[in-house]
Amino acid sequence: MALVSMDANASDSFVDVRSVDPTIIVELRYAGRNNLLGQPLYPYGTRGLARREVVLGLAKAQAFLRRYQYCLKIWDAYRPVAVQAKLWEASHNSDYVADPETGAGSLHSWGIAVDATLVDAWNNPVGMPSDFDDFTPAAMWRYVGPSPEVRAHVRLLQNAMLRAGFWGSRTEWWHYTIAHWQKYVPAEKAKSAGKTLATHWEGLL
Ligand SMILES: [Zn+2]
Repeated sequence: MALVSMDANASDSFVDVRSVDPTIIVELRYAGRNNLLGQPLYPYGTRGLARREVVLGLAKAQAFLRRYQYCLKIWDAYRPVAVQAKLWEASHNSDYVADPETGAGSLHSWGIAVDATLVDAWNNPVGMPSDFDDFTPAAMWRYVGPSPEVRAHVRLLQNAMLRAGFWGSRTEWWHYTIAHWQKYVPAEKAKSAGKTLATHWEGLL
């Protein structure tokens, strides 16, 4: 297991997702132009990093999904505070994007949240409720659209992630936080983050 030392909120070790399970697809959307800013926010070659517990959980979810001929694809994992600040500046929408200056900021910046979707076993896209960073009702956890296929896919992803020890987000079907996130965030910051993470389905991008 490769350890990478990061200058993050907490100076702890982060683990490369693919060093634990190379079958997980990592396609960081902020490393290219296909994101809400239309420009790369991460340097070329940025890897998907997260806390060890998070990465082990992802490997668990992947093992579950592979039984159904699906595969986990990671859109984002550890996100530096500087990148969070750019996203906040671009959107200023606190319904979806966490203000890096408020409370714990984004739980991505602590290495304890990931954005994930499904692909098939050959890395082909499958029908999901919306694209990444779609700040519309289509991004809600509870899919209410007409496609039984999309419903089955999003439920399979949710099921895999919940079994692997993650919580989902009410407003973003792709966003998952490790259930024991509080142990990674200093108590005084966790308190204010707790207000936005009051239920299993709450949480900001
Ligand atoms: Zn997220």
